[in-house]
Amino acid sequence: ISSVDITKSYIDRIDKVESSVNAYITLTTTQALARAEEIDDKRAKGETLGSLAGIPIGIKDNMCTKGIKTTCASKMLEDFVPPYNATVIEKLNNEGAVLLGKLNMDEFAMGSSNENSYFHKTMNPWDLTRVPGGSSGGSAAAVAANEAVFTLGSDTGGSIRQPAHYCGVVGMKPTYGTVSRYGLVAFASSLDQIGPLTKDVEDMALVLNAITGYDKLDSSSYNKKYEDFGENLKKDIKGKKVALPKEYFSDGIQPEIKEKVIDVAKKLEELGAIVEEVSMNMTDLALPAYYLISSAEASSNLARYDGVKYGYRANNYDNLVDLYKQTRDEGFGKEVKRRIMLGTYALSSGYYDAYYKKAQQVRTLIKNEFDKVFEKYDIILTPTGPSTAFKIGEKINNPIEMYMNDICTVPINIAGVPALSMNCGFDSNNMPIGVQFISKAFNESTILQMAYAYE
Ligand code: GLN
Repeated sequence: ISSVDITKSYIDRIDKVESSVNAYITLTTTQALARAEEIDDKRAKGETLGSLAGIPIGIKDNMCTKGIKTTCASKMLEDFVPPYNATVIEKLNNEGAVLLGKLNMDEFAMGSSNENSYFHKTMNPWDLTRVPGGSSGGSAAAVAANEAVFTLGSDTGGSIRQPAHYCGVVGMKPTYGTVSRYGLVAFASSLDQIGPLTKDVEDMALVLNAITGYDKLDSSSYNKKYEDFGENLKKDIKGKKVALPKEYFSDGIQPEIKEKVIDVAKKLEELGAIVEEVSMNMTDLALPAYYLISSAEASSNLARYDGVKYGYRANNYDNLVDLYKQTRDEGFGKEVKRRIMLGTYALSSGYYDAYYKKAQQVRTLIKNEFDKVFEKYDIILTPTGPSTAFKIGEKINNPIEMYMNDICTVPINIAGVPALSMNCGFDSNNMPIGVQFISKAFNESTILQMAYAYE
């Protein structure tokens, strides 16, 4: 089968379902076909091809693509065309991937339902009246609806894993520092990580191999030799130690989710793993710490959108300060403004010690707690979220309730460790349920090995 044929079949699929799913913001199908032809030519000439040659993919719209709009689903960047590629885009290009388009998301990656996009809502392909999750909702929906073979998302507090859980696909946040953030529009720099969303665990290993690695353009990129993530995939999991932290199975978690995740633990036990219950007392503190730290960093990162250098500029203003004010008032959506206000407040003098400093101290305690569990266990197994995909509109007017969706995912970003979510069944509404595999830093291959054994 030729690259052109594969690409065409995905374009046909997009033509068929995109009007109901709405996963993409920008489609680049014409360029995709030209690119596929190029790859077929290379193949015909016997040239060596990359590991992803001819594979049609989609990218979350917060990663810079040279010559292609990168909007962050915001009015602020509605017409922004980057003059350079993010490092992940360069890497995928080098491996021969074919870009079908840029995917919808919550504005500046803030949200859990994709309802915060300036452009349109994305629907959950399993039930079009429900949300796909967020903020990488377009990335998850596109994989679930077969509108791309795989996609990239970004995960600051669960934005890859929670939509993967809602859409029944595999999503992974790698260890902080393994995938370059160069060219990823910053939300909260100490938490942001790029990762793949795929159909299965084997694809996950393949894509991770393509995008990880040291990058001198990202100051937090970790310089080490990265292993082949597929290497351990098929190895026996006998003797691996799995921890089930009881705080992740509390009353707030939908009972069907708890059941299915326990079933995963049982299956791993049958395969020879040793499963034990543990306690992680700091779990409750992760959500408030996350919303403080991420909003504080966001308030600083988003200060660059002032109507001067690039992006949206207000039409009517009296003076320079008014230009800033009008531009930011008109260019940012409600949730983004809420985070900027929250973050600016937490960083103000007089409040810094009480909020930001406290949150950073809590962060250390959470990280230490993870380290301690990983002294004895290879994997921590939890639900990915407290509920399955909810109805569009159900939570949009209640920010606290919306933030509660992130209780199982944010501790992982706070600790900087890797985690994967994959499907482990369906609830009584036939909506997918995700299970989360967590390991210590730079131990992605154990996560993949365990996930593959379960799959
Ligand atoms: N839902 C979380 C938030 O709104 C996660 C965001 C993310 O991971 N980008 O902050």
